Amino acid sequence: MKIFKRFLDLIFPRHCIVCGRENPDGEFKYLCEECADKPFITQVERCKRCAEIVSLPCGVCAKCASDELYFEKSLVVCEYADAGRSLVLELKYHGGVYVADDMARLLGRVKNFREYFMDAVLVPAPLHSKRMRKRAYNQSEVLCGAVAKLYPELNLRVENLLLRKKFTPTQTALSKNERIENVRGAFAVKGGLNISKNAKIIVADDVMTSGATLNECAKTLRRAGFENVSAFAFARRS
Ligand SMILES: [Zn+2]
Ligand SMILES: [Zn+2]
Repeated sequence: MKIFKRFLDLIFPRHCIVCGRENPDGEFKYLCEECADKPFITQVERCKRCAEIVSLPCGVCAKCASDELYFEKSLVVCEYADAGRSLVLELKYHGGVYVADDMARLLGRVKNFREYFMDAVLVPAPLHSKRMRKRAYNQSEVLCGAVAKLYPELNLRVENLLLRKKFTPTQTALSKNERIENVRGAFAVKGGLNISKNAKIIVADDVMTSGATLNECAKTLRRAGFENVSAFAFARRS
């Protein structure tokens, strides 16, 4: 099998998507060990709720001490930098759904991820049907699917419980307040899915910046009666 793999690598060389090195041969398919090992995995102490770098001794950031957040807590894998950024861009803009498995593997390096995910219903942040037609897939859903597949022992379900009813411009250039306005009322809960109101729900996105999108998703679910909602993002942009 190993020989066959080496043979394939010879004909179709794979490259590390960060540094371009040929044929990464470790745990990851599209990352060399060096790039995967770069200390981009969050080492700093982060806010228990929104994963912002912490600024108060109580363990939450100044924003969360004052803002109304609808998710209990959040888990992020890495900073939006180095391999974290390359993986997100590849997944989202270059049709690179094949990197989702490597992203799911990186999640495995986060200490408490098993406990965090165990028996959860993963709810991808939805795309509007217009954007979905253009991109052909929802990157958050692809990521959730890769996580559920790689860790079958965690008993995860991926459910598209939310839909995006409002087409919103891309948030990249917006300020925090503009982002909150941009996504306000953007989501609705889909009917017809058999999910208990006590289920452990994790709303998931590829990147969390201000947290506005995930918070609006959580708010929509809480208002529909779901009691246990937390958040997951692959990368945190501070
Ligand atoms: Zn590399
Ligand atoms: Zn916070």
